[in-house]
Amino acid sequence: MPCPKCGTREKLPGQSVCRQCLTAYQRERRARVRAALAASQNHADSAFHSHMQPTANPQPYVSPSESLRLQMIRLYNLERTRINNLKPHRD
Ligand SMILES: [Zn+2]
Repeated sequence: MPCPKCGTREKLPGQSVCRQCLTAYQRERRARVRAALAASQNHADSAFHSHMQPTANPQPYVSPSESLRLQMIRLYNLERTRINNLKPHRD
């Protein structure tokens, strides 16, 4: 049974293609995973650097979770002020 991909070599037993095509496929898949990892790493690095150098960027990077945290703090302070204003004044 010849390999359907290259048509020149015999298929590996239990595989649909020959060893050369299987190796090439695995190498290509690993390269794709590495490229994706490198891309996400580069993205994290650029976010990190823009955070570390806020003067170089007019709008410093704020992560969504940090932005949410700041929003929660603002809401908490607002609520605390409101509750304090509701309390009857002593003295
Ligand atoms: Zn092949």
